Amino acid sequence: MPEEYLHDLRVVSSVLPFKVNEYVVDELIDWSAAPDDPIFRLTFPHRDMLPPDIFDSMSALHLGAASPDVIRKAAREVHGRLNPNPGAQLDTNVPTHRGEPLGGVQHKYAETVLVFPSQGQTCHSYCGYCFRWPQFVGNADIRQAASDVDRVVSYLAATPSVTDVLFTGGDPMIMRSTVLERWIEPLLAPALERIRTIRFGTKALSYWPARFTTDRDADDVLRLFDRAVARGRHVAVMAHFSHPRELESPVVREAIRRIQATGAVIRAQAPLIAHVNDRPEDWATLWQKLVELGVVPYYMFVERDTGARSYFGLPLARAVQIYTDAIRSVSGLARTARGPVMSAGPGKVLIDGVSDIGGTEVFTLRMLQARDARLVGRQFLAHHDPAAEWLDDLRPALGSWWPQ
Ligand SMILES: *Cc1c(COP(=O)(O)O)cnc(C)c1O
Ligand code: SF4
Repeated sequence: MPEEYLHDLRVVSSVLPFKVNEYVVDELIDWSAAPDDPIFRLTFPHRDMLPPDIFDSMSALHLGAASPDVIRKAAREVHGRLNPNPGAQLDTNVPTHRGEPLGGVQHKYAETVLVFPSQGQTCHSYCGYCFRWPQFVGNADIRQAASDVDRVVSYLAATPSVTDVLFTGGDPMIMRSTVLERWIEPLLAPALERIRTIRFGTKALSYWPARFTTDRDADDVLRLFDRAVARGRHVAVMAHFSHPRELESPVVREAIRRIQATGAVIRAQAPLIAHVNDRPEDWATLWQKLVELGVVPYYMFVERDTGARSYFGLPLARAVQIYTDAIRSVSGLARTARGPVMSAGPGKVLIDGVSDIGGTEVFTLRMLQARDARLVGRQFLAHHDPAAEWLDDLRPALGSWWPQ
């Protein structure tokens, strides 16, 4: 890469996390198409990922050969301007257990608890658009991580509404099998029979499929899935696939087969991202290939308002169009993908489409998930706004109800 790009890379990666591994470099990126290659855009920094004034001030430090300490301190100062905590996740979704906050756990929807094991707070490579980037920049104030398995299990035992536990990160599949076992085995005990589904939110199938094939403890991970299935649990691998390219290597196909052989079901989700997967055919091809591999398309998310959103975000109007064009061109079996979905403060909001109601152009929206379960399924209307990128940018139309 030219020196000019390497400078941009150094500047951006001193603020936002950057990490890429040999599998992504050797197997996923088409270097003849870089820098426009979608996987290159997905993983490698670009100067437009930072607001121009932040880029310029950080760039000046690098050009002035500032010390790593000075650069780190300056980066820490600008992190707060990149909305590190969208949807107030840290403040509003952390449950209390025996009078103390249960750090590293989020409980937003009655049936599902998210666990962020402290040993899983990294990924095999990083996505430029990562919405969990504060987990990776070493700032303890904006990090969430659970280290005490017993406390988490005790909370689950005491909370009867919970049927699903979702391990997330970072990437829980970064954990050694022995660590994974420490987290999973207690959930398989008869006392927690109520926990029916164990989900793993992971991008390992994209970024390091060897996790399920040739890694030293790959077989141990699969045996853990086997055991959970044998105890009647549904094991759901919530795989993050951003682009059909990620499904092409022989290793990922072998990994998918091996996971499926345990009885676990793989579901696929990803955000819609400018420069990476912003054409309807990217999604149509992705969903069709997933179906052929026995993977269930699940969610198409809207990029969250955090980190490099200004570079990767798309207007909601464009997102609806891409989703609709893509879903139209695939078989009903691939139409299990719901989207575009915003994971917003009040819950998961689906942009169902655009309508004309008595001469007013509106977005029709629907709550797919809600903090207040009574609101699930509730529909509402917003004025059509071609520039809006998030729920906050929308205004109620025609006196519509609005989620709070
Ligand atoms: C998406 C999400 C879930 C899971 O929701 P499902 O619709 O059941 O997949 C759980 N907790 C949080 C905070 C989420 O964002
Ligand atoms: S896989 Fe998820 S948590 Fe990991 S870098 Fe990508 S978006 Fe972030």
